[in-house]
Amino acid sequence: MKTLSILGSTGSIGTQALEIAREHPNEFRIVGLSCHSNIELLKKQIVEFKPEAVAVFDEEKADHLTDELKADIPVYRGMDGLLKIAQLSDADTIVNALVGSIGVLPTVKAIEAGKNIALANKETLVAAGEIVMDKARKHSVKLMPIDSEHSAIFQCLNANAADGGNKMSYGKAVDDVESVTLTCSGGPFRNFKSIKDFESIKPADALKHPTWNMGAKITIDSATLMNKGFEVIEAHWLYGRDYEKIKVVVHPQSIIHSFVEFKDKSVLAQVGFPDMRIPIQYALSYPKRLANTASKPFNPVTAKELTFSEVNNELFPCLGFAYEAGKIGGTMPCAMNAANEVAVQLFLDGKIGFLGIAEKIKKTMDVLKVVKNPELDELLELDNDIKNDGFQVL
Ligand code: NDP
Ligand code: MG
Repeated sequence: MKTLSILGSTGSIGTQALEIAREHPNEFRIVGLSCHSNIELLKKQIVEFKPEAVAVFDEEKADHLTDELKADIPVYRGMDGLLKIAQLSDADTIVNALVGSIGVLPTVKAIEAGKNIALANKETLVAAGEIVMDKARKHSVKLMPIDSEHSAIFQCLNANAADGGNKMSYGKAVDDVESVTLTCSGGPFRNFKSIKDFESIKPADALKHPTWNMGAKITIDSATLMNKGFEVIEAHWLYGRDYEKIKVVVHPQSIIHSFVEFKDKSVLAQVGFPDMRIPIQYALSYPKRLANTASKPFNPVTAKELTFSEVNNELFPCLGFAYEAGKIGGTMPCAMNAANEVAVQLFLDGKIGFLGIAEKIKKTMDVLKVVKNPELDELLELDNDIKNDGFQVL
């Protein structure tokens, strides 16, 4: 049996992770849960899953919950609280389903405490990929990707491994692999033809993802293709590929979740209807596979036509920013990520237009003085500084 602490248990990934735990009570026990402020849902999760402790980031809400629970279990608060849940002694696996760079430090502390990580929080690898992968290697913890594209690659690599599975590459390039190709739905605006089409986009338009149902921030990132850019950086760190060997192809049906091309030109892909439950469950059950009665079985006939096309880099500049930031390295990806977090929030709050997101990221990248090989503290400080004053360009 695995013991899980779920950071961000009230979100889209967190609730689906709990559905999997509910379906497999003999495989998973929940020992820790956390949310930012949705204590109503957290309370229900506490009643059902009986964790040993929970954390609520918002301190006022944490006080409310403490009063209501009458000290049945500890309710930790703020960042310290998240770190407690990330390091609970009874947890062997931490599911990081937080959104944003707030997820970096809990991941690092969990790794240092020897926990395996089921990682949904892609901002962790974007902002601090090198440090996180070094620590995972050093502490010999397993790092299982939840993102569907990286799960697809992980599953293809495991299928290719001589022992039939159990392959944890710790960011080292696997010799057999020539390249990886991440598929991309293209988001709701993939058919737009000119930059003018983007000027009148409202948050509600960008929040309508054609194939996936996800939290608000990643849905906006999917509309700008910054999400795909993040995934390129994630793939670089998880699978040790050079950026030239990580490709992106638009595939609006989201049926093929990514391709791995091997040196003999064989290509493996992982396939299925878009359903995050499948990659979440694989990350939780790895290296085993468990039954899944909740997901719709795949049927190629109903999947119908599968189409592929190139990304239009002029209309979707964020993907190019991510390649550039990844290649520059050092503090650049962290800065890009922080600028994106601020810009997406400004867009959701109606303070800037959709095109303003890419503009603000570019301005931030233009003024950053890159530091090579930053320490974790430098990255966290930079993230904080950009979120607070954004070099006065945000
Ligand atoms: P959601 O917005 O649905 O959920 C985020 C969770 O984190 C919630 O539990 C939220 O609590 C909590 N949270 C948010 N901000 C903070 C904070 N500052 N401190 C502590 N807790 C916080 O996000 P998703 O589940 O969609 O995404 C989670 C991560 O997974 C993201 O990095 C995303 O990019 C990645 N991902 C998501 C996919 C998806 O299908 N959703 C697919 C692939 C990757 P509360 O509910 O109280 O606000
Ligand atoms: Mg993805």
